[in-house]
Amino acid sequence: MNASDSVLNLVRPDILALSAYRSARKEAKGGRVWLDANENPKTPAASLPSETLAKDGRMNLNRYPEPQPAELVAQLAALYGVAPAQVLVTRGSDEGIDLLLRTFCRAGQDAILITPPTYGMYVVAAGIQGASTVTVPLIRDKNFALDAAAVLVAVLAAPKPSGEGGTPEVKLVFLCSPNNPTGGLLDRAAVLSLVQSLATRAIVVVDEAYVDFSGQPSLAAEISANPNLIILRTLSKAYGLAGARVGTIIADPAVIAVLQKVIAPYPVPSPVLTAALAALAPAGLAAARNSVETLIAERARLAAALAKLPAVKRVWPSDANFLLVEVADAAKAMAAGRAAGVIWRDRSKDAPHSIRITVGTAEENNATLEVLSRPELL
Ligand code: PMP
Repeated sequence: MNASDSVLNLVRPDILALSAYRSARKEAKGGRVWLDANENPKTPAASLPSETLAKDGRMNLNRYPEPQPAELVAQLAALYGVAPAQVLVTRGSDEGIDLLLRTFCRAGQDAILITPPTYGMYVVAAGIQGASTVTVPLIRDKNFALDAAAVLVAVLAAPKPSGEGGTPEVKLVFLCSPNNPTGGLLDRAAVLSLVQSLATRAIVVVDEAYVDFSGQPSLAAEISANPNLIILRTLSKAYGLAGARVGTIIADPAVIAVLQKVIAPYPVPSPVLTAALAALAPAGLAAARNSVETLIAERARLAAALAKLPAVKRVWPSDANFLLVEVADAAKAMAAGRAAGVIWRDRSKDAPHSIRITVGTAEENNATLEVLSRPELL
């Protein structure tokens, strides 16, 4: 059995056995008269922006788009330094999380493992799929470090094959690096050793939504040697395309092939494709690099200025585009922000007295500083 096969053993057996839906745009290539997909020959609405009627056909909105547009897949593969066969384009990484749950976890039998405090969608996606959730907290006293040994113990504690003894089998370990809402990167060596220790037992999903702001390399290059590693990336943050919904699952080609069976037939709408290709063209990439540099500089300025305010007790180190900030009174701070029209996220349920502040423009960050410097917040 090769390494990819052992990862496929973790896939829900009914999904492995499923025949994929064959959409029209998957089956046919290179025609002249397209009468295979029950489309309208034209888009009747005249009020659509003129670029929606472009000559290259890409934005012909009357046509279904390519299921996985080859040009976008190639650009994303180049951007992330992986092979096109390791790439699946999704509607944001939120869809990636949901797809992984549905592909690997059997309802009522399997589990995911999360390391709180962390991104809330993992547990929601697990709940929707009927999978349970095992938790192994990050170590707060060590800057919210990963407790890799405890994660390993928790996964190996589950019996195999699953279901026996009534303990769910952990199929997916979700690690978020840099972590939301704490902001720090997880230790690369600790993550990799966990991936290796779990090789045939579980998939390790590393959500790298914020890695562009860390100055550190992605773990994606490690997938070729470790087929049980899956990386999630997104254009929502560093590329400023949250509204376009473009996420990427990077995984072993055998895993990508299975995920293709589960994803909706046309997840990349034509206007989204156009926006994503523009963002990934050389000028778009250069602009994104500038934006990331500016946000990193603003993060440093904001963190230093916040740390001097009497109402701020602690600013956690951040490798992301936000700061987790412990304040004297989170509810008071949130209310003062709201009254001033400045909206942050209350994260006091995740970390005591803490709010999460996104790094914005210099003016926006000044607005944050102005509100949090008010004496009534003490
Ligand atoms: N992962 C993490 C850690 C996030 O914080 C977010 C956005 N809040 C997402 C994934 C989802 O991002 P998107 O669906 O926009 O790609």
